[in-house]
Amino acid sequence: MSVLVMKFGGTSVATLDRIHRAAKRVAVEVAKGHEVIVIVSAMAGKTNELVGWVGETSPMYDAREYDAVTSSGENVTAGLMALRLQEMDVPARSWQGWQVPVQTTSAHGAARILDIPPENIRAKFAEGMKVAVIAGFQGVSPEGRITTLGRGGSDTTAVAFAAAFEAERCDIYTDVDGIYTTDPRICEKARKLDRIAFEEMLELASLGAKVLQTRSVELAMRYKVKLRVLSSFEEQSDEAGTLVCDEEEIMESNVVAGVAYSRDEAKMTLISVADRPGIASAIFGALADAGVNVDMIVQNISEEGRTDMTFSCPNDQVMRAEKAVEAARERGDIRFNDLVTDTGVAKVSVVGIGMRSHTGVAADMFKALSAEGINIKVITTSEIKISVLIDRKYMELAVQALHDAFGLDKAA
Ligand code: ADP
Ligand code: ASP
Ligand code: MG
Repeated sequence: MSVLVMKFGGTSVATLDRIHRAAKRVAVEVAKGHEVIVIVSAMAGKTNELVGWVGETSPMYDAREYDAVTSSGENVTAGLMALRLQEMDVPARSWQGWQVPVQTTSAHGAARILDIPPENIRAKFAEGMKVAVIAGFQGVSPEGRITTLGRGGSDTTAVAFAAAFEAERCDIYTDVDGIYTTDPRICEKARKLDRIAFEEMLELASLGAKVLQTRSVELAMRYKVKLRVLSSFEEQSDEAGTLVCDEEEIMESNVVAGVAYSRDEAKMTLISVADRPGIASAIFGALADAGVNVDMIVQNISEEGRTDMTFSCPNDQVMRAEKAVEAARERGDIRFNDLVTDTGVAKVSVVGIGMRSHTGVAADMFKALSAEGINIKVITTSEIKISVLIDRKYMELAVQALHDAFGLDKAA
């Protein structure tokens, strides 16, 4: 019998009524003859509340206890979903991550799935169970501690189960009806895509489009999982939503496929560091050891043997970064005159595999931003993306201007 994976995000299980509606959708697939693995998120807002409680109780918290607390939201929805299915006479039971077990690394708060042995669940399917409801976002470390997979991690749970069970498809039910050219909440001209290439979705996700967790796209690409994003709020056909697929399966596409943004970025500059071999290693080694996720890096040209070094990182890591740099200065590993922090920046990026063969995309991007009077603070590029750091207050304007400039409201 073929296995189907269906994942319901926070808004799709936000109330008992929403859980009921999701369960009806699952029952339809069971009636079609599928064995279904349902992955659930916590009810909308629950994980944020739990994260808040952890921070209020212990600002420099023990990451293992952070995971113990924040994983709990999914346990509630998994049990409720199983109960609702049973009420509908669909044989179902719930599993928490450790029960499967979803084996992960010990990187608490950002663990990676290592393995999902399918035997336990397969045995239950063989006994006549039709739906396995799995608490998303969580697993268990080799030390036997509960782990979580990072925010948005239920997407990754879903794709990992689809790979482990060689599922026919992995359907991600959410509050939008597919993947758009940009976040439809900030750009009303955003256009829904029927298909998007894995590489493009991977870049969009890692640059801030939270519709799919980056790691879930990586796994889907690696294990050739048929991944679809669709709405849990509308009636669906088999062609609904957006399919994430290989580039070869897409007939026509724009040079730029989409625009992504990341709101909560910070820019830090070390003023007047010695321009000598090993200086970058000393600075970024210290930041890495402190667990700071450095993103963009710019080193100025040097004058009289001294230079400025700028980097960006998530806003909530600024304190950690400042401490790491100050500690390196106290140890005598680096010297600098000043550390300037700007916590009011956002990153806006354009992504498209067409950039491999088209020149001039960067120039068009900078022209569109300049026409709106938006100053660019830092630029980085790769083969299929260009990112800029700008003042956060211009972020939405920048996304809309770029969406217009690259004609993303119209199909190629
Ligand atoms: P869920 O709780 O179902 O996991 P998320 O909030 O994590 O849902 O992801 C869905 C949200 O992603 C949408 O509501 C939308 O605001 C946002 N989003 C950002 N970029 C895009 C995009 N390119 N296409 C669709 N949605 C996007
Ligand atoms: N509940 C978790 C979060 O809000 C995981 C998820 O929903 O994917 O990040
Ligand atoms: Mg999500």
